[in-house]
Amino acid sequence: MYKYFWVSFFALFLLTNSEIAAKDMERELQRPFTITTFPSSLIEENEELKKRNVYRPMATISIAPTTYNSTETTITTVERKDENANQIDYHIWRTADSPLTMKKFTSTDKERNFSFLFDTSEFLAQRGEYQVEAYMVDEQGIEKLIAQNTFCFEQSVPILMYHAIDEFKGKGLQGLFVSPANFEAQMRYLKENKYTLLTFEQWDERNKVNKPILVTFDDGMKNNMNALRILQALEDEKFLPRATEFVVANRIDTSPYWLSSEDIKEMVSSGIFSIQSHTLTHADLPIISNFDNELNASKQKIENLTGYPVMAIAYPAGQFNNKVVEETRKHYTFAVTTKSGQFISKDQPNELLLLRRVRISNETTLRQFAWLVH
Ligand SMILES: [Zn+2]
Repeated sequence: MYKYFWVSFFALFLLTNSEIAAKDMERELQRPFTITTFPSSLIEENEELKKRNVYRPMATISIAPTTYNSTETTITTVERKDENANQIDYHIWRTADSPLTMKKFTSTDKERNFSFLFDTSEFLAQRGEYQVEAYMVDEQGIEKLIAQNTFCFEQSVPILMYHAIDEFKGKGLQGLFVSPANFEAQMRYLKENKYTLLTFEQWDERNKVNKPILVTFDDGMKNNMNALRILQALEDEKFLPRATEFVVANRIDTSPYWLSSEDIKEMVSSGIFSIQSHTLTHADLPIISNFDNELNASKQKIENLTGYPVMAIAYPAGQFNNKVVEETRKHYTFAVTTKSGQFISKDQPNELLLLRRVRISNETTLRQFAWLVH
């Protein structure tokens, strides 16, 4: 939805013929939350192959329904316009990987619409979205592309929960403090093990990338600037750090302990942080009645400061009930709790407003961290 919003803005700029504004806008559109793509030469090569095949859809690839824990599915080719085919080749690869990792599978089971049982073990049991192409094979063995589709085996997504990134100096709860050295080692682990750090803006990409993970911070403490510096230092062409700060809107600029407007603007302009809501006053949501203030005014205030949509909230102290969830749904697409676990879609009602997280604390060792994100 937001994409269309920005695209229409972009069009408006073009209409006013303001080239500079349009260029700025283009940069705005490209800067935050982009996903690494494959070299364009590879994609062009693949597109070129398809053109030579003169691709026109001549059938439909049908995929049997899967559940969140399925590891296999049945693929068929139906609504075939050409009934002469006696063999169909399926070309399959994971969306997150290069098309060069494609594997070819053959079906001659014309009786059952060229049915083929695909098992993820063919791709080292890796989950996520898969691309599939169906090719009709003639007597000379020449393949002709007749249909394309995608199918998905849900990946589970850890949403890490941090608070302070600082040495514990005796003030506050020690458990909430992760030292900068430990945080750096943890982020380096994600980098070296090829995780893809996402923000809530990129939620729909979670099955199109390798090892999706979200890194989140609650409360908007000034020491989260340490996290920004560490993530900036780890950024390179292959590793694009992304993180989410859940800020208490009314604490901004109130004391040196909390993030200032300037800090938040710097976090946003780094392209690393997405700023989301932790309510207006860190209210205990199940006992309040003025939801508009805590849920809506906080969202407006943060959006005015950053210029970007706020779509996610962290329930203060993890407190919520059915009423809170219903009120939250009016203003947010996502809400995180402090319940423990990784996310995998089971198509349950309100599942995006009851997201579990993985708590990283003062005591978490790197060995435990590796186990928690696995
Ligand atoms: Zn909090």
